[in-house]
Amino acid sequence: MTPTERLRELAIRHAAFAWLDKQRAAGKETFTQEDTSNLTLGGETFRLMPTQQGIWKPGQLRAALAIRTVYRPEGSNRPYDDAVGLDGFYRYKMRGDDPNHYQNRALHQAMAERLPLIWWLGVQGGGYSALYPIYLVAEERSDLQFVVDIDAVPQPDITWPSVDLELDPAYRQQLTKLRLHQRPFRAAVLRAYRTACAVCSFRHSELLDAAHIHEDGAGGRPVVTNGLTLCKMHHAAYDRKILGITPSYEVRINADVLQEVDGPMLRHGIQEFHGQQLMVLPERRTERPDPLLLEERFQAFLNAS
Ligand SMILES: [Zn+2]
Repeated sequence: MTPTERLRELAIRHAAFAWLDKQRAAGKETFTQEDTSNLTLGGETFRLMPTQQGIWKPGQLRAALAIRTVYRPEGSNRPYDDAVGLDGFYRYKMRGDDPNHYQNRALHQAMAERLPLIWWLGVQGGGYSALYPIYLVAEERSDLQFVVDIDAVPQPDITWPSVDLELDPAYRQQLTKLRLHQRPFRAAVLRAYRTACAVCSFRHSELLDAAHIHEDGAGGRPVVTNGLTLCKMHHAAYDRKILGITPSYEVRINADVLQEVDGPMLRHGIQEFHGQQLMVLPERRTERPDPLLLEERFQAFLNAS
């Protein structure tokens, strides 16, 4: 690839990332093939997602632009875990068993030229969330796979530790798994709750979180029935056991906090929800919070009171 070709590859990619940033800033978490087609980037029309295979190299580019991993439903448990190596890096399987297949060569190009790609991660219930920029940092031809680096992906919710990762690869492996689950989980949970806080129905997506009922780090699964859409304040209150949710979806406030006298934020934002039913629940019953998980978490709330 000539330097000019490489610059063009980078320019198209950066234009694609800018478009995705804009969509996400407007609250869009889940993308379909339809809404990532016919984009004008650098004066040309591009599609950002493959139509059938997992690897996507647009005709106008020399290297692959995107990879895709479909959502694997319940039963297969935690969708991306199997493929995260002990070194903390994800392994993306080549297409078929020929490393020289043109799609595998397109991935090889992206690796050799240090070009960033988009990784489409399947979302429970349909569509894909976008992880970018990701890099392919090595090729393991005998195992027919590429090594994927997601460190460059901005993820304000999970920060990398300051400790030397080389010293504790198991920690790095765990963090990679958490980071891979995070975005599709958020997309699935926000959609199920129609982008509104379950407690107060607040609807500003930048201030909404997909909260785990059973914590991710403690083995909780990244599925909608283990999630709740909560605004930042109610998420923090839930995590600090100031706010509890019963298995029958009733909000409880810690007795001490209920007695406190402060300003309108405490009164209207916290205390007045005591005894209220959740304001927002998924329309599909199969997506509502698992009462067993709520029960366990509610017990922890009671024990902390
Ligand atoms: Zn709220």
